[in-house]
Amino acid sequence: MVPLTDKFGRRITDLRISVTDRCNYKCVYCRTGNGGELYGDLPFADYLRMARVLAGLGIKKVRVTGGEPLLRKGVVDFVRDLSALRDPDGEPLELALTTNGHLLADLAQPFKDAGLRRVTVSMDAVDPDRFARITRVPNGYDNVLAGIRAARHAGLWPVKVNCVLMRGFNEDQIIPFGMFAREEGVVVRFIEFMPLEEDRVWTPETVVTLDEIVRRMAEYRPLVEIPCGRSETARRYRFDDGIGEIGIIAPVSHPFCGHCSRIRVTSDGKIRTCLFSVWDHDLHELMRRGATDEEMAEFIRGVVQRKEERHHIGEPDFVPASRTMVHIGG
Ligand code: SAM
Repeated sequence: MVPLTDKFGRRITDLRISVTDRCNYKCVYCRTGNGGELYGDLPFADYLRMARVLAGLGIKKVRVTGGEPLLRKGVVDFVRDLSALRDPDGEPLELALTTNGHLLADLAQPFKDAGLRRVTVSMDAVDPDRFARITRVPNGYDNVLAGIRAARHAGLWPVKVNCVLMRGFNEDQIIPFGMFAREEGVVVRFIEFMPLEEDRVWTPETVVTLDEIVRRMAEYRPLVEIPCGRSETARRYRFDDGIGEIGIIAPVSHPFCGHCSRIRVTSDGKIRTCLFSVWDHDLHELMRRGATDEEMAEFIRGVVQRKEERHHIGEPDFVPASRTMVHIGG
């Protein structure tokens, strides 16, 4: 089997599947709060077939995402079916999930039992009022905290907590999140705000950058960088006493496109080769027309050849992506 590789020599090993573009939160950096589902979704059997063909091409890691994936009934069974897939070496896939955590408390153990390895929970404040202001949903904080603790308890290890910092909303949460990482035994990862929101409020000034996060956290305790592999998107840090891990994902100030290993399948079955793609590739339509697995694999190889070299955030020639984050699958 020839590994799935793009024309810049990048090996494609990571797949993200969005199983819905609906969400029960309206985070200020993501949604307007008015629009809902735009693209619809597919039966799980269709995503499973796509994942099986992609596993045959050397995909090693699958992340289930959305929208909010836990809004879909049957998602635990879907994970169980994914866990039966094998890559060309006969190895199981590494399965992960990204969720806002609102419905996670009761599902963490069933997910673990179904073969999920890890979970990432999005959480943008460690203060209930601030959390409600960002998500625009009342009383979510306690649910999410319970979800994080249930995930730890179930051994979905390591539990990562993603926080998008947006100036004017939560940049004062950096140190509280540092404390949270140490107290709760989770990896907190700050993500730089990208221009992928429905409301088009992004400007360079709204981005809280990696350098600023490290500087601010050092006022609490110094961070020591953990050396890591080239393909990791997050820069990883430990506090100087060895307790607590922080990651920073800095696509704006420190882009990592040169070693991007990802492709995405949207909830309506389109392949996207970059978050900032201005087009997508209709794998589901091909399936609907009766394509064989081999024809699907050939189509995917062709699509991967057209993977963009890099994004152009903040440059004069930046063209907004053809979909916003919630409709792509983060
Ligand atoms: N609903 C799930 C959740 O909340 O994690 C999965 C989908 S959500 C779109 C995936 C991730 O994208 C979340 O961690 C969210 O914070 C992040 N995200 C959404 N909009 C973003 C933006 N404009 N810039 C950076 N990250 C963003």
